[in-house]
Amino acid sequence: MSDSMMKTRFAPSPTGFLHLGNARTALFSALFARSEDGAFVLRVEDTDQDRSKPEFTHALQEDLWWLGLKWQEGPVQGGDNGPYHQFERQHIYADYYQRLEAEQHAYPCFCSEQELKLARKAQLNAGKPPRYSGKCARLNEAERQARFEEGLKPTLRFKVPDARDITFTDLVRGEQRYSGRDIGDFIIRRADGTPAFFFSNAVDDSLMGITHVMRGEDHITNTPRQILILEALGLTIPDYGHITMIVGSDGAPLSKRHGSRSLRELRQEGYFPEAVTNYLARLGHNYERDDFLDHQALGQGFETGRLGKAPARYDGHQLLHWQHQAIVAASSVPIGTVPIYQ
Ligand code: GLU
Repeated sequence: MSDSMMKTRFAPSPTGFLHLGNARTALFSALFARSEDGAFVLRVEDTDQDRSKPEFTHALQEDLWWLGLKWQEGPVQGGDNGPYHQFERQHIYADYYQRLEAEQHAYPCFCSEQELKLARKAQLNAGKPPRYSGKCARLNEAERQARFEEGLKPTLRFKVPDARDITFTDLVRGEQRYSGRDIGDFIIRRADGTPAFFFSNAVDDSLMGITHVMRGEDHITNTPRQILILEALGLTIPDYGHITMIVGSDGAPLSKRHGSRSLRELRQEGYFPEAVTNYLARLGHNYERDDFLDHQALGQGFETGRLGKAPARYDGHQLLHWQHQAIVAASSVPIGTVPIYQ
């Protein structure tokens, strides 16, 4: 795999079964890679050991295979940029933390949860957006040392330059602009030593050579923080595209009450993977063709410019329509084309 190859990824946290929303994110990422002859990477984001479960890690891989989404790099498959489970990458993050601290891009923060909660409340009451006050950034070396000697376990905070505007061109939503002033210094390593999402997710995308990140729009406000981290580390910044949420018929986020199911449930109910794929590929992405397509054709017709900007509305009838198409396709193998082995 060459260094300059276009690469997308799916980076689930194994805290539950794949549902339609994250299956669609995985599918769009895989189709996007296919559309550009790129590679699709699977990375398991299991740094939260309390919530991550091996059975979900196993299930998500099985579900992706069932859906026909095969990754070229990732668990089982391997690749040059492993390990592909974040929990096994802690030693890699350690070096980057050190660099950020040495270059004054990060500092230890000893503020307690309680203290931070009170400060947030006071800011909200005053009608201000909650952001960290920068208190621990102002500690001198002796004050820091004294706190370490007390046995306090600090978090590590990234220092956001106030005067910085962060801009990027989202593949779906176009120009985005954020002010450093609104972001505030944020935690990149928790007090227990585990990485915060912002950090490991951004660093791994860069180290794994991901060129295009497709993810849900609930992550868009994380992007300026991640750009700042990668910039400070001198690492390559991927392009980001944030896809809209899936909503139910009443416009509320898709849930069980709208008929949303996990992939496992759909599979148990007898849905064909090709039906789910054809449905999801069109949920928030419009294709020129409205006939039943295989992965190759879905990949060829995929364009980020065809991704919708309005929330995608789930429609169980459409899913049934594609199920019907899948049944027709499966039963239309012409007689005489199936080889018979004696
Ligand atoms: N582990 C994150 C999630 O599942 C990944 C987000 C992303 O794709 O960057 O939400």
